[in-house]
Amino acid sequence: MRKPAPSELPAAESGRSPGPTGPLTACVIWANDYATGMANLGHQRVWELVDGYGPWSADRLYTADRPAGTPVSFAWSRPLGAFDLLILSLSFEADYPAALELLDAAGLLHYGPGRRGPLVIAGGIAPTLNPRPLSPFVDAVYRGDAEAALPGLLTELAETQLERAVARSIFSATGLHLEGEDPAASTIQRWRSPDGIYAASRTISPHSHFGRTLLVELGRGCPRRCRFCAARWAAGGWRPADPAALLGLIDERTAELDVRELGLVGTAVAESGRFLELLAKLEQRGYKASSSSLRADLLTPEIAAALVRLGQRTLTLSAEAGSRRLRELLDKDLDEGDLLRAAGAAAGAGAARLKLYFIYGLPGEDDDDLAAIVELAAAVKKRLGRTRLDISASPLVPKPLTPLAEAPLLPESELRRRRKLLVGGLARVGLTAFTGESPRQALWQAVLARGDGDVLRRLRAGEPKGALIREFAG
Ligand code: SF4
Repeated sequence: MRKPAPSELPAAESGRSPGPTGPLTACVIWANDYATGMANLGHQRVWELVDGYGPWSADRLYTADRPAGTPVSFAWSRPLGAFDLLILSLSFEADYPAALELLDAAGLLHYGPGRRGPLVIAGGIAPTLNPRPLSPFVDAVYRGDAEAALPGLLTELAETQLERAVARSIFSATGLHLEGEDPAASTIQRWRSPDGIYAASRTISPHSHFGRTLLVELGRGCPRRCRFCAARWAAGGWRPADPAALLGLIDERTAELDVRELGLVGTAVAESGRFLELLAKLEQRGYKASSSSLRADLLTPEIAAALVRLGQRTLTLSAEAGSRRLRELLDKDLDEGDLLRAAGAAAGAGAARLKLYFIYGLPGEDDDDLAAIVELAAAVKKRLGRTRLDISASPLVPKPLTPLAEAPLLPESELRRRRKLLVGGLARVGLTAFTGESPRQALWQAVLARGDGDVLRRLRAGEPKGALIREFAG
């Protein structure tokens, strides 16, 4: 499909916002392109929570898909400085530089107490893990589930006429992180839905990464505790959606947005024990659906068959490590048998493709562990028959809050060597479809994830990314 001009994007959406309806306005900013922002339920959820809440209305902005010149918002074409509140919704550390460039282009990048213009809050999974890299550039960093404290915050801000000094004390009292404070003093907000439903797309567009698909969250958090998993440690324990309430939400939103395809999203989609029942009901209602990555020990032949009947062509599983020793180190309680059975289920169901995820560069990893990835992938391939196998392997990015937060970062040259070993070994067993983050991308992500505002300040002052990686990644 031809990439649309930024001006064409709003008109292609179903479920558009009517425009500013109240006296106070916020802009929810995604520091990347429109396609990935629309495919992010957290981003859509924050916009939905703010737009129409009391006196507030909200527009959005996508930094990589905005018209040239002074930054204006997505649908209302309103300059950023004219909003009362800017909310940076950030899932990925690598998007931080684009967020700051946007504020700078709008004349709103201020450091320290002399800050002027709209209040600026950053939130999302990346700042939840570590709020320090962004806190010098914004008024406050919100950590955790937006539903827990954002509505109350909006009410209080509205009552104070958005006076900056007062707002700061409200942020602090609500548990947001402020520059210079200990992150441990802030609160990671947790929300359990009282009616058993979590987020669903508010709007859909053919230009989203997933096309015209309604994304629905099957629950939040995860009951497992894999030691590397940023999603688990940022989101907390498992809060599953209620299947009956979820079906009600799906029927309502699909009718409203005139869509029949669903994306079932979550860190633990099959954990509820009622996943198969949900899939059967979706099938009865005539929906098409696909789900996020599944745990291998939960991909039964029945679940694989139901997903394929619902139209999912590629099933994804995470093995993480090839050797049992390293899977144990990660607390990934899966064995080779689970993966082989899951591969058999995918093949038996007639899935077109299986995608298998691995992590390398783990603490204590040696070349035998990399060889074990190749062996495991080859064994899985044998079970797949006509189903194609793709491998994705990325270097470990030790994230704050996770038990592996302090794991050492390997030099880029060593990560490259390990990647080469993997790619070569996999090619020798006929597996040439290899993707994954590059060592450079992973190290940059780690530097941003574990640092403070200094890295971004120095990047903005013109220091090359490579030099910062060498200094901070050691
Ligand atoms: S890797 Fe998967 S199973 Fe493990 S904690 Fe994260 S979301 Fe849960």
